[in-house]
Amino acid sequence: MIKLEHVNKTFGNHQALTDLNVTFNAHETTAIVGPSGSGKSTLLRSLNLLERPESGLYHFNDQVIDFSHPLASKDVLSIRRKTGMVFQDYNLFPHLSVVKNVMEGPVQVLKQQPDAARQTAMDLLDKVGLADKADAYPGQLSGGQQQRVAIARSLAMDPEFILLDEPTSALDPELEAGVLRVLLALAQENDSMIVVTHNMEFARAVADKIIFVEDGRILFDGTPSDFFTKPNQRIADFLAAMT
Ligand code: ADP
Ligand code: MG
Repeated sequence: MIKLEHVNKTFGNHQALTDLNVTFNAHETTAIVGPSGSGKSTLLRSLNLLERPESGLYHFNDQVIDFSHPLASKDVLSIRRKTGMVFQDYNLFPHLSVVKNVMEGPVQVLKQQPDAARQTAMDLLDKVGLADKADAYPGQLSGGQQQRVAIARSLAMDPEFILLDEPTSALDPELEAGVLRVLLALAQENDSMIVVTHNMEFARAVADKIIFVEDGRILFDGTPSDFFTKPNQRIADFLAAMT
C-alpha cells in the first residue's frame, strides 16, 4: 500500500500539489484522471521520488518518508526498486536489442545471471506479445511495440507498483489498442498499477479506483461506477469535454 498524507509540492510560486491525501492499494489498478496541468504527473512522479514534495508523509507499507526532511539515499533507492515507472515516450536504450533492453536492469542493478535474466526477459516479451522481436532494435519497432517493451522492462525489475504516465498518449489509436490490452491483462492478474490516462473508456474498463485531480487537489476518489454514473457537475463537465 502507498499512502500520501498532507503532501505539498510547489514549482517556484506555483503550487502543483496542495495538501494531498490519497491511498493506493496493492493488487488494484488506480486511474488518475483530470485536466492538463492539474498535477497528475507531479503526483505520479512524487510516488517514485522523481519529484520531491516539500512537506507531507509518504508511506510505502511500513516505510515512512517525511518530505520535510532531506531524503536519505537508501530511502530513494528502496522506493525506486519498489516502483517501476513507464514513461509516455518509452525511453528505451536505442543501441540495445529489445531483449537486452529488458535484461539490462536485472543484470546491472539486481545482479542477476545473464542466462536467467534472458529467460525472464523472453517470458515477459512473450507476455507483451513481442517474443518474435527480441533481437530487433527499438528503432525498428512501432511506438506501440516500443511501449510494450518498456512495460516488459519495468516488469523485469519486479516492482511492487507499476506507475504509468499517459502510456498511450504518444500513439496512434490503432497502436494504442495493443498497449491497452497488455495493461488490461496485468490488471486482471491483480498487479498493483497506477496509471495516468486521458482514455476514459480504458479507465472505466481497467480501474478499481479513479482519482480525479484538479488544481493540485483530489476532487474525487472512488469507484469507476460512481465516477461515471453519478458525477458531480465539475466531473460531468470534464467527461463531456473528453468525448
Ligand atoms: P499534468 O500531468 O496533470 O498535466 P503536471 O503535474 O505535469 O500536470 O503539472 C502540474 C503543474 O505544475 C502545471 O502547472 C505545470 O506547468 C507545473 N509544473 C510541472 N512540472 C514543473 C517543473 N519542473 N517546473 C515548473 N513547473 C512545473
Ligand atoms: Mg502529465
